[in-house]
Amino acid sequence: MTAVQEDRTTDELKALAEQAGRDLEDASALEILQWAVDTFGKRFCVTSSMEDAVVAHLASRAMKGVDVVFLDTGYHFEETIGTRDAVEAVMDVNVITLTPRQTVAEQDAQYGPKLHDRDPDLCCKLRKVQPLEQGLTNYLAWATGLRRDESPTRANTPVVGWDEKRQKVKISPIARWTQDDVDAYVAEHGVLTNPLLMDGYASVGCAPCTRRVLEGEDARAGRWAGRGKTECGLHG
Ligand code: SF4
Repeated sequence: MTAVQEDRTTDELKALAEQAGRDLEDASALEILQWAVDTFGKRFCVTSSMEDAVVAHLASRAMKGVDVVFLDTGYHFEETIGTRDAVEAVMDVNVITLTPRQTVAEQDAQYGPKLHDRDPDLCCKLRKVQPLEQGLTNYLAWATGLRRDESPTRANTPVVGWDEKRQKVKISPIARWTQDDVDAYVAEHGVLTNPLLMDGYASVGCAPCTRRVLEGEDARAGRWAGRGKTECGLHG
């Protein structure tokens, strides 16, 4: 049962998010997700890039069959699609795959090939931002796997905050975690991870925009390397 009333105004939801961010700052990831499930019920989902299934696993402990939303941009590594398929097959979650309005071929025909090299912001808008916005329409709250230690742009991520762009509650239950925390959780619970993490990739996105990281680089340094871009627009 959904505890939050469906007719809450956006101002009320925003206040709820900000209060929860303060109240849950020191709570465990599972407690944060339990709050989200108790508060929003089926109007809560997890988004996953299928880099690993840690947040999906945590959320499934809070609610069996929780919706896990995956954006299939058409540019993923086959290992990422394989991880999505494995998550769907073995975990007690409901995987929902979102796709952009256009296939890659259709986008190429309209904008020219390799838009990701010429205008990655537009490519991300068409293949990530717009499909996610549409896919989240029926949810009041969504969870991400953002962590503060991933990059300077994520250093202030609240565990619960307000997503101004989408007017929704945004939950980052592992915001305070380190990579060691993630590794320990994966080992303890046997959580599925993307095989590319064992092959020099510290953060996995679309194939044309992801490279392995070098010694001493932060986890997201391999994303849009050399293009002056650090985020796809989903979290800005
Ligand atoms: Fe396009 Fe690259 Fe963004 Fe993927 S990460 S949507 S390929 S620009």
